[in-house]
Amino acid sequence: MRLIKEISQMKDCRKKIKAPQTVGLVPTMGAFHEGHLSLIRKARQQCDKVVVSIFVNRIQFGKGDDYQRYPRNLSEDISLSEKEGVDVVFAPSLEEMYPQDYSTFVQVGGPLSSTLEGASRSGHFKGVATVLIKLFNIVKPDFSYFGEKDYQQVLIVKKVVDELNLDTQIIVLPTIREKDGLALSSRNSYLNKEERKAAVILYKALEKAKLWIEEGERNPFSIVSKIKDLIKKESLAKLDYVAVVNPETLEKVEDIKGEVLALLAVSIGKARLIDNLLLIAGRSYLEKKEKKFSIERSIKKCE
Ligand code: AMP
Repeated sequence: MRLIKEISQMKDCRKKIKAPQTVGLVPTMGAFHEGHLSLIRKARQQCDKVVVSIFVNRIQFGKGDDYQRYPRNLSEDISLSEKEGVDVVFAPSLEEMYPQDYSTFVQVGGPLSSTLEGASRSGHFKGVATVLIKLFNIVKPDFSYFGEKDYQQVLIVKKVVDELNLDTQIIVLPTIREKDGLALSSRNSYLNKEERKAAVILYKALEKAKLWIEEGERNPFSIVSKIKDLIKKESLAKLDYVAVVNPETLEKVEDIKGEVLALLAVSIGKARLIDNLLLIAGRSYLEKKEKKFSIERSIKKCE
């Protein structure tokens, strides 16, 4: 496995990989957990060469966000990457990606980027889109792997790739959770014991929403209001937003028909956590069980 820190070296390395060999990219901010590893494993199964990028992207953090204390664990991430059979870890410095006079950014317009996370974290998706375009240009991946945990990010990345005519195929994989349902996140490390217990409220609330819909609830406003009440009861939790939306546009729905997506963001102690769940109204329990909760329905195999 190679560890590359310079953009020019990463580009040279990529040039030596010729079609029909395929390259898979897993963009991360490091501090690996099983969620990251699930993406790496899928890339390993599907592609000839796997590149994992590790870069805490300063420009997607707002003022007062957790950039300084964001967990960093490069040596452990490198050894995990090696174990998973990764070919290249690309871990550039901040100066390498954004030199002193850096001034080019990718601005994603439209309601998709101004709602939910976009509304709560001004400039966040501009930072995400900018770093991803840079990574796509440096690594030129045939396939790029993302987690459904960051659902809005996935929709935005797909839109950017489509609108800027990029040649990478976006592969989306399901959220990996702890036994009690808490979605794995590098930010979970901020939680103390008590807060960790409280953090399960995000998943509990989503599961409740699923249950209410199974029981026949079709009013999204009532679901949102019941979730707000649930979160209020958890004294350590502070709700940022909860919404029931169309899974493709993220627009709020007026009533619940077919598939809807519930998303929420909650602060617990120093951790701001997000989660989401796709909910399906009007199907039998068995059909629902068989349904794959993934945005990407057909994953093309790299040969
Ligand atoms: P991050 O390092 O947090 O920027 O995440 C890197 C990638 O891992 C993103 O595509 C995330 O959506 C994905 N990811 C983060 N947490 C999980 C999880 N619990 N399950 C699956 N994928 C995840």
